[in-house]
Amino acid sequence: MATNHVPVPVINEHHWFALRDGHRVQYSLCLSGLNSVSEWEFNKTYSTLCEAAPTKWNFHMAFKRISEKIYSCEAVLLKVATECKNANATFRIRLSVDEEDSRPAFVQEFLSVSEGNEAIVPHQDKKTVKIPQILPTEHAHVLNGDLFISVIITVTSCHQ
Ligand SMILES: [Zn+2]
Repeated sequence: MATNHVPVPVINEHHWFALRDGHRVQYSLCLSGLNSVSEWEFNKTYSTLCEAAPTKWNFHMAFKRISEKIYSCEAVLLKVATECKNANATFRIRLSVDEEDSRPAFVQEFLSVSEGNEAIVPHQDKKTVKIPQILPTEHAHVLNGDLFISVIITVTSCHQ
């Protein structure tokens, strides 16, 4: 069976430049008709443009169909280039779906965990989120609608 592999469209990108000791970006995404696709991917390289110590991060997120009503999600954040050894990063993912009349039916947020050292070594230590089932089975009927995804990446300790 051929892989049905679709990039996730970005509907908005918002940068905060004035965090006290870091930087933050939010990507707003929307998956439409999730149940017609077996795999979705979102790939983004985030450069902080820090004046003191710029860093670059690769974010990858994949949604995979496990069974008719079950989708999983795995996301990984990796430092790929840096002038700052101390810079660290975390991310969170918020998933939400609406009922047909636009009332929120489901909202859930997931925080990244560390794999490796807390002080991130480039191309080695990762932050990850692993969601075995993105929607409780009782909400599986909304999979043919829109799944709204918000990804917020926060980089800290690069400037003061
Ligand atoms: Zn900075």
